[in-house]
Amino acid sequence: MKGKLGLKAADTGMVFLDGVRVPKGRVLGREGEGFRIALSTLDTGRISLAAGAVAHATALDLSLAYAKERRQFGKPIAQFQLVQEHLAAMKLDLEAARLLTYRAAWKKAKGEAYTLEASLAKLFASEAANRVAYRAIQVHGGYGFFEEYEVARLYRDARILTLYEGTSEVQKLIIGAHLTGMRAF
Ligand SMILES: Cc1cc2nc3c(=O)[nH]c(=O)nc-3n(C[C@H](O)[C@H](O)[C@H](O)COP(=O)(O)OP(=O)(O)OC[C@H]3O[C@@H](n4cnc5c(N)ncnc54)[C@H](O)[C@@H]3O)c2cc1C
Repeated sequence: MKGKLGLKAADTGMVFLDGVRVPKGRVLGREGEGFRIALSTLDTGRISLAAGAVAHATALDLSLAYAKERRQFGKPIAQFQLVQEHLAAMKLDLEAARLLTYRAAWKKAKGEAYTLEASLAKLFASEAANRVAYRAIQVHGGYGFFEEYEVARLYRDARILTLYEGTSEVQKLIIGAHLTGMRAF
């Protein structure tokens, strides 16, 4: 599919399955359990995706370097309190996202149920990556709006994170179902 906002280095296509016949020896799992198995793979995918969101730490590294180098009013902009507020908020978002991601991966590695932890990590990390990318452009000022600066690509790439592998709304429904024991979907 052409014309994506981000993830331009990865091809995206649609797969349609219609009337497919699978020989018995090729069936993965048990018959009738496909949907459950497919959904269970999403839990693992959500941890990977949260880890991908944490990789937006690059946006903080770039912003730190730029803020130390860029001078306005006779000072590096890193010395301005409001620029430091952006940097501190980015750091906080990234650290929290990292820890939630590690916890979900740790529970999976121990063989424990981790659906809730994977959803918490995916929801927080993907929303955090968008906040971080937004702030990175803010720190770069007008230059951040140009593709020449990597933060512009990070901003575009962050946007998909709250959509695939279950949208943020869907993660909230999963978390809500765990908390209440009642499914809203
Ligand atoms: C670049 C890209 C790559 C992708 N890769 C894959 C892939 O590898 N494999 C794959 O299977 N899919 C993939 N997708 C599809 C992606 O997972 C879906 O786009 C995503 O799950 C949202 O589904 P939808 O687009 O049908 O949106 P919709 O379901 O139409 O949702 C639209 C809006 O309504 C909200 N909504 C929907 N249902 C509810 C509900 N019950 N309660 C509350 N809110 C709701 C959603 O959260 C969203 O905000 C990819 C999409 C993109 C853009």
